[in-house]
Amino acid sequence: MIIVLTGAPGAGKGTQAELLAKREGYRKVSTGDALRKHVKLGTQIGKVAHSIMERGELVSDEILFKVLKEELLTSAPEDVVLLDGYPRNIDQARTLDSLGDAQRVKAVVQLEVPRAELIARLSGRRVCGGCGATYHQTENPPTRAGICDKCGGTVAQRVDDRPEAVAVRLDVYVRSTAPVVQYYREKGLVKQVSGVGELESIYKDLRGVIGAL
Ligand code: AMP
Repeated sequence: MIIVLTGAPGAGKGTQAELLAKREGYRKVSTGDALRKHVKLGTQIGKVAHSIMERGELVSDEILFKVLKEELLTSAPEDVVLLDGYPRNIDQARTLDSLGDAQRVKAVVQLEVPRAELIARLSGRRVCGGCGATYHQTENPPTRAGICDKCGGTVAQRVDDRPEAVAVRLDVYVRSTAPVVQYYREKGLVKQVSGVGELESIYKDLRGVIGAL
C-alpha cells in the first residue's frame, strides 16, 4: 500500500520519510532522490532532467512514470511505501491510480508549513553531496563549515535551493501540486499534519496518523 506524503518544497517530507523508514520499517520512495541519482550517474534520464531540476520546474510526466515504475518494481504488495514527491500534478495522480491494487493509495498525508517558513528553510538548507545528510546554515550547521559530520563529504547548497529556483518551486507547488490534494480530498483520503515545530513532535504526529490507518 502507498501513503503519499505531500506538502510544499521545504515542508520536511524527505526528512520525516527518512525517519519513518528507519524507525518503522516503511519503504521510502522519493522521486526527487531517484532523479538526483540519475543525474549523478549521467543516465539518459539524468541528462534530460538535470537543467529542468536546477530551474525548479517539473520534469515530464513520461520520465516520472519510468522513474516511479523503476522505484516501485522491487516493492512487495505488503510493503508500506511512503511516496515523497509524487504525484505532483493531477495527471500523475491519475497515473498512480491506474497502477492497480498492489499500489493502492491508502492515504495522503499533507505536511503544512507557512510560506515564509518554507523560504527560510529552503534558502538556509545545505546538503552533503556524499551521503545526502541535510543541515541548515544557521539552525543546524555541520561542526566544520562545508564538511559533513557523518561522512566527511562536501556540504553545499542545492542549486534548486537558490532564491530564483525556490520561487519557481513554490509557484509550481501552488499551481500544479496543491490541486492534487483537492483531488484526493474528494476521495476522502487526505490527513493534515502541521509541519511546524520540533522534528520529534512532528514525527510523533505523523507516526500517529500513519499508524492508525
Ligand atoms: P524534490 O527533491 O522532491 O524537491 O524534487 C526535486 C526536483 O525533482 C523537483 O523540483 C522536480 O524538478 C523534480 N521532480 C521530483 N519529483 C517530480 C515529479 N513527481 N514530477 C516532476 N518533477 C519531479
